[in-house]
Amino acid sequence: MDKKIPSKEKLTQIVKQVLSQHLKVNSQEELSRLVLKRLKRENKDYVVSPVRVKRIALDMPKIEVKAKTKKAVRLQKINHCPVCHSKIEPLEVKNLAERKVLIGYQCTKCAYQSDLESFLPMKYAFLWKEAKV
Ligand SMILES: [Zn+2]
Repeated sequence: MDKKIPSKEKLTQIVKQVLSQHLKVNSQEELSRLVLKRLKRENKDYVVSPVRVKRIALDMPKIEVKAKTKKAVRLQKINHCPVCHSKIEPLEVKNLAERKVLIGYQCTKCAYQSDLESFLPMKYAFLWKEAKV
């Protein structure tokens, strides 16, 4: 069986379908399960990881991602990408108290990305913004 990796465009489209229908999904595992279910309707060989689905959702302006940590953690501050030394950008989401939390860093040039999941489990919620109107 050949595994098939969905394109970013494909995933963006499916994540949009799932969230506009469910309006709120309470974990990245649940979101990726719903996304995969739809993908498999088109091709049963599709595979996708919860982390990739979350990253797609973070890039979509219509989706609000909230994060919850068990305790406050401080990330080591980095100013440049450790891979290519380009400018690095913080990855921030709001937590349940509407405060911004830093969940990691991403490079503006290459694919380097670090996030807190390497250090501790985080719980995410995904909200479809138009549902709040
Ligand atoms: Zn880089």
